[in-house]
Amino acid sequence: MSYTEEVYERVVAQNPGEPEFHQAVKEVLDSLKVVIERNEEEYRRLSILERLVEPERIISFRVPWVDDKGVVQVNKGYRIQFNSAIGPYKGGLRFHPSVNQSILKFLGFEQIFKNSLTGLPIGGGKGGSNFDPKGKSDREVMAFCQSFMTELCKYIGADTDVPAGDIGVGGREIGYLFGQYKRIRGLYEGVLTGKGLTFGGSLVRTQATGYGVVYILNEIMKAHGDSPEGKTAIVTGSGNVAIYAVEKLHQLGAKVVAMCDSNGFIHDPNGIKLEVIKDIKEVKRGRIKEYADRVEGSTYTEGLGIWNIKCDVFLPCATQNELDIDGAKVLVANGCKYVVEGANMPTTLEATNYVMENGVLFMPGKAANAGGVATSALEMSQNSMRISWSAEEVDEKLHTIMRDIFKKVDEAAKRYDMPDNYVVGANIAGFEKVVDAMKAQGIC
Ligand code: NDP
Repeated sequence: MSYTEEVYERVVAQNPGEPEFHQAVKEVLDSLKVVIERNEEEYRRLSILERLVEPERIISFRVPWVDDKGVVQVNKGYRIQFNSAIGPYKGGLRFHPSVNQSILKFLGFEQIFKNSLTGLPIGGGKGGSNFDPKGKSDREVMAFCQSFMTELCKYIGADTDVPAGDIGVGGREIGYLFGQYKRIRGLYEGVLTGKGLTFGGSLVRTQATGYGVVYILNEIMKAHGDSPEGKTAIVTGSGNVAIYAVEKLHQLGAKVVAMCDSNGFIHDPNGIKLEVIKDIKEVKRGRIKEYADRVEGSTYTEGLGIWNIKCDVFLPCATQNELDIDGAKVLVANGCKYVVEGANMPTTLEATNYVMENGVLFMPGKAANAGGVATSALEMSQNSMRISWSAEEVDEKLHTIMRDIFKKVDEAAKRYDMPDNYVVGANIAGFEKVVDAMKAQGIC
């Protein structure tokens, strides 16, 4: 049995009931085989892989809060501090009823390689709660955030662990979390990113993940003599990542014809009117089906199946495992040429292999959506230096980082004789830097 297979079996045996974590480890280890085989003796002796798949620390805690009816509610809270070899832990907080240890471990594990790819000094972490902000009043969200931070604040800090937003955690939640951290710790420091612009936030952070996804799509296209101009695209989800991916696609001349939320999808053959989506999602916190009532010529379909609409570019920007093998087959049959992951692990392993075997250029989330965490790291720099860069400066830095990520991924894939295999390229490029740092720091 190979070293990677041995470690994968050990992960499955020692982490029962954590399928998402197993899936993320398998995807990474499978694609690292070529590198690991070349250095097997040393990696085995140093137990590099065994250390890499074991979080440095898992913090899990009770979050009690009082709802608007005066009833005490209890949620689970977590922070996974996965790997600090190249910098303080950095990664988002997710508030969603599906959150559990398996999902946060998969996200924290992926985050190690993603953060390494940005070229910035940030380690991997992730956290969150099974709290559902949907349908809660502002006061309830604040009560929850204050209770969550009352416990979390013992373990984080500007130089130790810097959380950010993710699904269900946007500017409102970060504001309440920051306020409570400051109050308890008495420190005004860059302990969270994604803050409001009046209290240390960075311009372009809101747009960064979505813009970054499209910047990297543009690099892939350029490398193959193509461009987004005139292309038809589908962007799944209608949250932070999706909205700004659509904005950038439209700026670059592509037409996005479909988006979705967890209830269903809209199809607008004339091109999505993003101002309507922003009003429904960012202002009213409503459902995407309202779009079809407001925009003539568009339709709403309840449930899954957005991939049935023909497109050249498919950007899954909603959630894990949203694109499975059935969806992948339809995309390929309809002539889709590019799948770039805005969300984390939105494509199942089977679907990933299928699209790649059928000539689709596929960029995994850990490279494609790294613009968010990269801009978070730029927010940390601005906080430390007590300055603010202009929107143009941040956007230019983001653009440069995404170009560099593409270059590193593309070169790593070519170095191992697998051109255009960006899954292998991203994992290798992210892995090499972390392993160098781990080796240099001794057994820890
Ligand atoms: P949001 O909460 O802002 O949006 C998520 C969107 O996805 C919502 O429209 C949501 O719909 C939809 N969605 C959730 N589950 C499903 C489902 N099963 N089927 C269809 N649609 C669904 O989150 P973000 O945009 O911030 O994050 C999206 C993804 O991107 C996540 O995987 C996240 O980890 C990743 N990511 C985010 C970064 C960021 O900077 N925000 C950075 C890097 C990665 P509904 O409203 O109905 O729930």
